[in-house]
Parts: sequence; C-alpha cells; structure tokens
Amino acid sequence: METETSFFDLYDVDLKDKRSVIGKGAFSTVHRCVNKRTGEVCAVKVIALKSLRSSEINKIKREIGICSSLQHEHIVSMRRAFRDESHFYLVFEYVSGGELFDEIVTRKFYNEKDASACMHQILSALQHCHSKNIIHRDLKPENLLLASKDPNAPVKITDFGLAVIMEQGPTYFGFAGTPGYLSPEVIRRVPYDTAVDVWACGVILYILLVGYPPFWEEDHQKLYAQIKNCQYDFPSPEWDSVTTAAKELIKAMLEPNPKRRPTVQELLQHPWIARRDVPGSVHRQATLEELKKFNARRKLKGGVNAVIGVSKMMRTMQEATRALTLSAKSKQAATVAEKQDTLVPAGPAKAVLEVNDELLKAVASGDWDAYTTMVDPNVTCFEPEAAGVLAKGLAFHKFFFDNRSPNADKMKTTLHDPAVQMFGDTAIVTALRVVQFVADDGPKTTRYEETRVWVKDAAFKFGWKLVHFHRSGAHATPN
Ligand code: AMP
Repeated sequence: METETSFFDLYDVDLKDKRSVIGKGAFSTVHRCVNKRTGEVCAVKVIALKSLRSSEINKIKREIGICSSLQHEHIVSMRRAFRDESHFYLVFEYVSGGELFDEIVTRKFYNEKDASACMHQILSALQHCHSKNIIHRDLKPENLLLASKDPNAPVKITDFGLAVIMEQGPTYFGFAGTPGYLSPEVIRRVPYDTAVDVWACGVILYILLVGYPPFWEEDHQKLYAQIKNCQYDFPSPEWDSVTTAAKELIKAMLEPNPKRRPTVQELLQHPWIARRDVPGSVHRQATLEELKKFNARRKLKGGVNAVIGVSKMMRTMQEATRALTLSAKSKQAATVAEKQDTLVPAGPAKAVLEVNDELLKAVASGDWDAYTTMVDPNVTCFEPEAAGVLAKGLAFHKFFFDNRSPNADKMKTTLHDPAVQMFGDTAIVTALRVVQFVADDGPKTTRYEETRVWVKDAAFKFGWKLVHFHRSGAHATPN
C-alpha cells in the first residue's frame, strides 16, 4: 500500500462531483477515475477511516494484500492501493458489463455449452487463487461480473472482502460466506480449506443449468440442515434435458465430504468443462425464465441472503435500509421490502432483532453450537429455570440443551411486539414470547415477558453477543 505517493497525484477524479460516483457500499463510495499517466479508466473505492473500527481496518489491509497478489484475466484486478490520514483508496480495473446472471437472461439463446463456458472461466480464476492458497469464501452470482458489454466479454470474479490465506492446511477461519452457498464443513464449524469454493461453484453451476438454487429455505436453520444433509435433487422435467455428465459433475462438486470433492485443477480437466463438445446444445428457455425470477428474488431479498462476517453484516443491513428507503420512494416499490419497512425497525435495531430471532431459533431447535456463537460465555440471567438466583455462564444453559424435552420440536414459539432500545453499543430487546404446545388435554399457550441485553462484539457470529436476559414466569392458558 502506498502512503508516500498521494492517490490524487496519480489519478484524476473530483470526489465532490456526484457524476463521478458509480456505486456505493455502507462504508465506501466507488468513483470513476482516470490514471493521469496512462489514461486508463479505473474504479476507486474510497473508504473513510473514521467509520471503521480497528478490526475493520485490518480486514481492509488483508483484502488489499490478497487483491494485490492476484493477477488473472478472470479476476477484477486491483491496480494500486493508497492510504492517507483520512481514507483508503483502492483502485481497481473498471468493469462495465454488470452481473453475469443479469446478462444471461437477456440472451436469445442459452445452452449447456454456455453454462460450461462460464464455469470454465470461474474455475480458471479460482485455480489462480487456490494456487496461492487463497480461499475466496464468498462466491455467488453477485460476485461474478462481466468485463464489458461486449457479447464475448470475459467473466470476472470480484469482492475478496472475505478471502483468507490458508497457511497450513485446513483451518477454521470462522463462519463466513452467504447462506445458500455455504458448504457443510463451514456450517459444521470445523476446519476447512479451498474445497469450500468448489462447493459454492457446484451451487452456481446448478443455478446456471436450471435457473434456481439447489438449496432454498427462508429459515437459515432449515437451510443449513438441508445443506448438511445434502438434500437436493434433479427434478423433472427441467433436469431431463440436462446431460448426465453435467449432473455427475454437480454431484461431485456438491460432495458433502470435502476430502472427496474434486479440486479446481481436477475440475478443469473434466470433459464437460474442458471439452466444449460434450455439453448439450438444447436451448434452455425455461432456465432463462427461472433465472429471471431468481435474479429478482435475490435482489429483493438482499437481507435474507446476507453475507455473514461482521462488517459485511452491518453493510448488508445498511444497504437493506437504503434499499427500503429507495423502494418506498419508487413507484415500482417491492411489496416485500415495503412490508418489512413497516414491520421491522431499521439500522442497528433491525440487525439486533434479527440476531435475537436467530437466537430463539437456536433455542427452539436445540442447536447448542449455533447458540454459543451468539451468547457471551459469562452471560447472566434471571429466568424461572434459575429458580430465583442470578445464573451465570453457559454451563447452566447447556444442561437444558442436553436434557431437552422430547416434545420440544412440536412447540411453536413466536415473538410479539418486540422493541429495541439502543444505548451506544448496547441494545435492549423487550418482547412477549408466546409458546404453543400440545399437553395431555390438548393444545396450550404460554406467555413470557423477556428482556435481552445485547452488546456489539465483532468476535461473535453476527457482531452482537447476548450478555444478559430476564424472563418472567409463564402465564399459561387455563385448563
Ligand atoms: P462494492 O462496495 O464493491 O459492492 O461496490 C459498490 C458498487 O460499485 C458496485 O455495485 C458497482 O456498481 C460499483 N463498482 C465496484 N467496483 C467496480 C469496478 N471495478 N468497476 C465498475 N464498477 C464498480
């Protein structure tokens, strides 16, 4: 990273001129700029230091290190990076073709050969990353761009914000990625390696062939269960016209055991990828129709598909809030977004409520691993189970997870009237929790009042940890 030469010495851009803006993230603005010496048009991501915590500054430095070590025709190339007292300036090659999936749906003709050509380019970029022990960790349609509007423009992988360098074999780098593309080993929270990118490519290839994803559930816990159990299939009629070679390839990439999954190197030798004469040549109109719907859905549901990783989580929340404001103003406002806008608080309060929701899901499903990614090891609580004492630490709660009622799966929990109060980095969530269950004499409902205290902490899965909670005794429906 250059600190001696100023970004402004080498590049022409007027950051105050709104016309130079080509995109926005929560912490960054992307401007079009021109290299004064070569005349090359570039995209500069300008990130204000004052909006960043030290852990986020370290992540940007890691991203700069990784991007500057990658030079490949199918990777959006970083030209230079600068830092001054107030900003980072990350200069990238300018790509003008938009997202690959948005372009595919405009095609008049699309077949397996086209899908194979896209996958070949993605894999060759990945081969370059993996040869340097770099794991991308966030491969998904949003990060597959086209260099230009030309019909044969190359595909380019972008966004190395979650990428990591693997120094000594499989390592647990944390729970990171985007839900629908997470591999079973990431979900199991065990050490993992470059094979996670192969899994994500398997998901992408499935979508490229039929236009919808192999794993799909609104509820993240259910989605993760589907992925862990590798529950996907090749339904008729849309898969009937796909060649056996393509299906076998997907099965190999979506192999739950990462050790048995092929490497990128091996995939590039696979006949369906390497020899373009193998893939089927039937025009796949139904895939284009499905892909249009899939593109629309994922753009609406940015929040649902949120990237996991703390700063990314916050960024997604802020972007979702921005999208809601925009959609409320727009005539073509999305119904889903508008509904969310009126039902759910915005900004950090919204983020906390979502984490609170994830926590209740972990409790309801008895998922101890998920629970501990959100709860401080020194959590304190006052609740009926603690019989009037202030219980401290996780061990107290582990007992209840280990000795779960056999009927727990039949209970239904809903949260009513949740409210969030923010005090700097602390959030207090108050709500009514209603539990429905079946007793010997029929269905029953119990109500509790709950207060949960969350504190921002980047070391926890969603950037928040539960430090205290308080639950009233049960108000049960009369017999
Ligand atoms: P990001 O924060 O990386 O998601 O970038 C925000 C937006 O800036 C993107 O959605 C693009 O519209 C634009 N952008 C980012 N990088 C580039 C690039 N290299 N070339 C052209 N536009 C870009």
